[in-house]
Amino acid sequence: MKRWNGWGDEATTYPLPESAARYLAEQVGEGLHLQDATLEQALQTVPISHFPPHQLISTAPEERLRHARGQSLPDWIALRSGQIRTFPDGVVYPASEQEVRALLEYARKAGVRLIPYGGGTSVVGHINPLPSGVPVLTIDLSRLDRLLKLDETSHLATFEAGVSGPEIENQLNIRGYTLGHFPQSFEFSTLGGWIVTRSSGQQSYHYGRIEALFAGGHIETPTGSMDLPVHPASAAGPDLKQVLLGSEGRLGVVTHATLRVRRLPEFEGFYGVFFHNWEEGANAVRQIAQAGVGVSMLRLSNALETTTTLALSGRDNLVKWAGRGLQVVGFDNERCLLVLGVTGTNLQAAQAHREALEIIRAHGGLMTGPAIGRMWKKSRFYAPYLRNTLWEAGYALDTLETAVPWSEVLATAEEVQKVLREGLANITERVLVFAHLSHVYHDGASIYVTYIFRRAGDPSDSFKEDPQETLHRWQVLKGAASRVILAHGGTISHQHGVGLDHAAYLAAEKGPFGMQTLESVIRLFDPDGMMNPGKLLEI
Ligand SMILES: Cc1cc2nc3c(=O)[nH]c(=O)nc-3n(C[C@H](O)[C@H](O)[C@H](O)COP(=O)(O)OP(=O)(O)OC[C@H]3O[C@@H](n4cnc5c(N)ncnc54)[C@H](O)[C@@H]3O)c2cc1C
Repeated sequence: MKRWNGWGDEATTYPLPESAARYLAEQVGEGLHLQDATLEQALQTVPISHFPPHQLISTAPEERLRHARGQSLPDWIALRSGQIRTFPDGVVYPASEQEVRALLEYARKAGVRLIPYGGGTSVVGHINPLPSGVPVLTIDLSRLDRLLKLDETSHLATFEAGVSGPEIENQLNIRGYTLGHFPQSFEFSTLGGWIVTRSSGQQSYHYGRIEALFAGGHIETPTGSMDLPVHPASAAGPDLKQVLLGSEGRLGVVTHATLRVRRLPEFEGFYGVFFHNWEEGANAVRQIAQAGVGVSMLRLSNALETTTTLALSGRDNLVKWAGRGLQVVGFDNERCLLVLGVTGTNLQAAQAHREALEIIRAHGGLMTGPAIGRMWKKSRFYAPYLRNTLWEAGYALDTLETAVPWSEVLATAEEVQKVLREGLANITERVLVFAHLSHVYHDGASIYVTYIFRRAGDPSDSFKEDPQETLHRWQVLKGAASRVILAHGGTISHQHGVGLDHAAYLAAEKGPFGMQTLESVIRLFDPDGMMNPGKLLEI
């Protein structure tokens, strides 16, 4: 069963090695082992539902609690402290497009607000009900999970929109195909969620972001139904798929989508490469991207992320000996790890590997072979479980991301990390901050920053959490980093979307006319403001 107040399946844990605990204590101070609210305590705070009994709507407190929050750090603070405050009044599980249409009709007549819910993995507050006097119904789309059609001639697959990452890959893989969309939240996130948040998978360099994979589909809106037909390309005016991409549940419910799929690759490999420093690594990955080398992934960690990832892996002996070996060949503590992926036919993969290696060597890089790549692949969806363990050890972990042109990459990454590192100095708290380039493009890259700080609480008061203070620390850090991103002309989000947490920053990116345009589109689809209000735009 999914954790109600953290990441992932309850049966999966990520024990914190003793050496990793020591490392964190050195970096940010001893964590406080604070008490979390129990499920029973949290359930006692769920208010009476506004809904009259309805055969399709569940008003059970536990279901409402389990759909009340996503995975942002403010969500975690609310869930773990039991101070959740806003809940949907009901949860409904439609099993067909007709049921979705009927629900929209019911909601319009009854004056109910609707929140579409995919996997609930949003990290920016997308699925949270906001305080209002109006009943809120969460539409959980998990029953819409079927493969409707596979066109093997055109390599197009049509799925219902509530299907999760593993379900998509299982259904395609047994037929010899893959979508190749692997966000780190793959285990739980869904097709509909990916489309309306403009999601990016770890190998989007090869497979494309969801914008490229999404060929067409269907949306049920408060105003009516809309089909987005599938064309390989079209010059018939503006592309309406772009209106849907990034719409964050404000326009309606995506019920199914057609995706561009590929044959399963003949070969896939991931390799660890070390550079002497971050700048050399960044120059190398830029050159690989700009030369059009056919690799499938380039994920470049900075020096502190390289050290921290290895420290938290718990493989002390391996790390010690590898570190010594790298020192001997001249890679000191500034060394940075690149995980390089190659995917395709044997021939394509060999060529991509050879061409990338040439550029890597020209920048002083050292290819270490497949062992590190194998380790990365094994933990690619497991790493988020560490967040549970760190929380329980007294640390809050959050991530933020942006994308900027290459000319701004190094300066933006440095300054964002600096403001985070120094962000709590006035209360003498330290913040551990590190970064990687997660997706690279011809003209720029996305910068993905992780920051860890201590949760606030009072050891003299039965180790009680101080959720307001932990939230305040996050607000200070997030605000400072977001302002730096905007000052460098970066986007407020490369892949997580806007939701609640980025809504205040959107106008800086879109401008007044852009914001008016977005508002008009939302009003056109949803004149009564019943679809997920307050997300994306603060209306
Ligand atoms: C550990 C972790 C790692 C992550 N890694 C990545 C990553 O690598 N790349 C990335 O892009 N993101 C990542 N994310 C963010 C998140 O997984 C994505 O935003 C994802 O696309 C959300 O999908 P979901 O199905 O969980 O949507 P939800 O969280 O349920 O909803 C997100 C938004 O989509 C709307 N929505 C969902 N389904 C529909 C539908 N059918 N019709 C209309 N609206 C709908 C909701 O109303 C909401 O506004 C990560 C999150 C976590 C917690």
